[in-house]
Amino acid sequence: MKKAPTKFSCQCGTVQGQIDNVTPRSSNHLTCHCKYCSGFAVHLGQADRLVDDSGANDLLQVAPWSIRFTSGQDSVKALQFSEKGPLRWYASCCNTPLGGTLSRRFPPFCVLVMENLTFPNGGPGPVIFNAFCDQIAEKERCSKSGKLAALRLLARLASQAVRGGVSGNWRDNPFLDLAGGRAMADVKTLSPEQGESAFAALLH
Ligand SMILES: [Zn+2]
Ligand SMILES: [Zn+2]
Repeated sequence: MKKAPTKFSCQCGTVQGQIDNVTPRSSNHLTCHCKYCSGFAVHLGQADRLVDDSGANDLLQVAPWSIRFTSGQDSVKALQFSEKGPLRWYASCCNTPLGGTLSRRFPPFCVLVMENLTFPNGGPGPVIFNAFCDQIAEKERCSKSGKLAALRLLARLASQAVRGGVSGNWRDNPFLDLAGGRAMADVKTLSPEQGESAFAALLH
């Protein structure tokens, strides 16, 4: 029997999609404390919902080719903190952060915002890595992951990249256009002032 897919949705329900069979093996459950993840949530007015008291953003890293939009793709937009930075995707209908990708398709990488996901069974299991603990003011609030956890995560990401490379699946990224791997939506780059004002809000 085919397993029911994991679903995701923006807050207003316009943007919806699904992810194949999320399990602890097929996904990496992470938290990220970097100022960009939190600043992205602040910029969209979503920090109260998405950044917890320890400064953590709850994220799920999955293979890009396992993700599919089922509606509202036209409302999916991206922004960047700088022109060379990763792409941070959101649903423009209701300013819901959706996740992030690199600006090109290889190596294949995608994280999704956990808050938008519903798991029909099981799901990804507990957090396996807390990233960028050193970027929050009260560092003791974050339990920093050790070197072994970092190596394990890198090995899992490398294995995903190899599997995607060998199978050709790396070309299949719903966030990025197939023609040349460019972002499918217009990407807005925040001004340095917009970035700084989002980061400043994190300190209060
Ligand atoms: Zn929406
Ligand atoms: Zn981050």
